Amino acid sequence: MRHTDIAIVGGGLAGSTAAAMIGRAGVDAILIDPHPVYPPDFRCEKLDTLQARILQKTGLADAVLRAATPDRELWVARFGQLVEKRRGAQHGIHYDTLVNTVRGEIPAHTAFVAGKVTAISTGPDRQTISVSGGEDISARLVVLANGLNVGLRQKMGIGRDVISAGHSTSIGFDMKPIGRPAFDFCALTYYGERPADRVAYLTLFPIGGVTRANLFVYRDLHDPWLKQMRDAPAETLLSIMPGLKKLAGDFEITDFVKIRPVDLAITTGHRQAGLVLVGDAFATSCPAAGTGALKVLMDVERLCNEHIPRWLASPGMGADKIEAFYDDPAKVACDADSLAKAYHLRSLSLDGSLPWVARRWARFLLHWTKGILRQSPQQPYVEADAHGTVVPAR
Ligand SMILES: Cc1cc2nc3c(=O)[nH]c(=O)nc-3n(C[C@H](O)[C@H](O)[C@H](O)COP(=O)(O)OP(=O)(O)OC[C@H]3O[C@@H](n4cnc5c(N)ncnc54)[C@H](O)[C@@H]3O)c2cc1C
Repeated sequence: MRHTDIAIVGGGLAGSTAAAMIGRAGVDAILIDPHPVYPPDFRCEKLDTLQARILQKTGLADAVLRAATPDRELWVARFGQLVEKRRGAQHGIHYDTLVNTVRGEIPAHTAFVAGKVTAISTGPDRQTISVSGGEDISARLVVLANGLNVGLRQKMGIGRDVISAGHSTSIGFDMKPIGRPAFDFCALTYYGERPADRVAYLTLFPIGGVTRANLFVYRDLHDPWLKQMRDAPAETLLSIMPGLKKLAGDFEITDFVKIRPVDLAITTGHRQAGLVLVGDAFATSCPAAGTGALKVLMDVERLCNEHIPRWLASPGMGADKIEAFYDDPAKVACDADSLAKAYHLRSLSLDGSLPWVARRWARFLLHWTKGILRQSPQQPYVEADAHGTVVPAR
C-alpha cells in the first residue's frame, strides 16, 4: 500500500489545480485519473476577468493565460442590433489545453497514478483508496474531484439531487467567414432575439487563429431543432438569429457540432470525515451562466490556501474539520451566486411576463447607452488586464 498525505481523485480542472497547489506547497500528494493526458472535451472554453482573478490566487494564472487567447475587443448585440463595442477581457482556451497546462505546473514530486478509483473507505484518521489495476493508496485526506461521475460517490452514501433537469444545452463549433480572411469583430456576444427561440446567447471568441462559437439554448435533448442544428448548422443558426448575417457576413461552420445538455445538481450526504468534494463533484453549474470554472477555482483556492494547511497541522481528519470548507463564506456565496445566475439568465431569456420583458429592454438600453458613450472621445473606459486588474484604457 502506498502512503501519502492527500489523494486527489480526478484530474480535470479541479483536481489538477488542487494537485498543482498542494504539490507546490510541499505537501505529499498523489493525483489519480484514468488519463495521463487530459483528452479533448467540450467544457468551459473561456475565462473571464473574475475567473482570472481567482486563478491569480492559485499561482497558476501566468501559465494558463499564456496558453490562452485574449480577445482584443468585444461586440455586443441585443435584439439583433449591435449595441456596444468594448475592450475584451476574456481568454479563449480549449478545456484540454486548460487542464493540461495546469497539469504542467504540478511539481515532479507529486505522483500521478493512471487509473480509475473503484472504491474509497473513509474514517477520522486515514482513508483507503482502491485503484483499478489493484493498487491501494492510504491517505490522510481524499479530495474528490471526479466531476459528473456519480457511481463512486453513491457507493459512499453521497447523493445527487437534480434541482433542474436539462437546465440548458450547450453547443460548440468553429466558425469561419467565407470570402474574407477574418470576421470584422474579434469577439461577439449575440443575445437571443425572441424568447420563443429559447436561446440565451451565442458567444464567438478567438482560440489561436480560429473563431470558436458557444451557443447556449434552453432545449430538450430530443428537440428536433438540435438535430437541425447538427445537420445544417449555419442555416439553423441564422433562422433564430437573422441579424447575425449583418454582423458576421457569410460564414461556414467547419467542424462537428458538439451538443451537451446540463442538469443543475447538488450533493447530499457529503459532510463526512476524511473526504472533501470540489468542483462539479460537489455541484454543477449552468454553462450559459459561465460560472462553472469560477466555482471550481473558488473551491480549490479556498481548500488549498485556507483549509488544508490547518487540517494537516493537527492529527485526525474528522467531519468537524471538513465542515469548515463547506461553510466557507466565500465558497457558499460563490455557489449561491452561480445558482442564482443560472435561474436569472433562464428567465431573462425565456420569460414572456412583463417584468422580464422590461428587464430585457433595460439591458438593451444599458448596453446601447454604454455603446454611445464609448464612441465619444471624452469617455475613456477602463479595462481588465490579463490578471483581472482594472486599469485605465490606453
Ligand atoms: C458543455 C459545457 C460547457 C461549459 N462551459 C462553461 C463556460 O463557458 N464557463 C464556465 O465557467 N464553465 C463552463 N462549464 C462548466 C465547467 O467546464 C465545469 O464546471 C468544470 O470543467 C468542472 O471541472 P471538474 O474538474 O470539477 O470536473 P471534470 O473536468 O469533469 O473532471 C473530472 C475528472 O475526474 C476523472 N474521474 C472521473 N471518475 C474517476 C474515477 N473513478 N477515478 C479517477 N478519476 C476519475 C475524469 O477522468 C476527469 O478527469 C461548461 C460545462 C460543460 C459541460
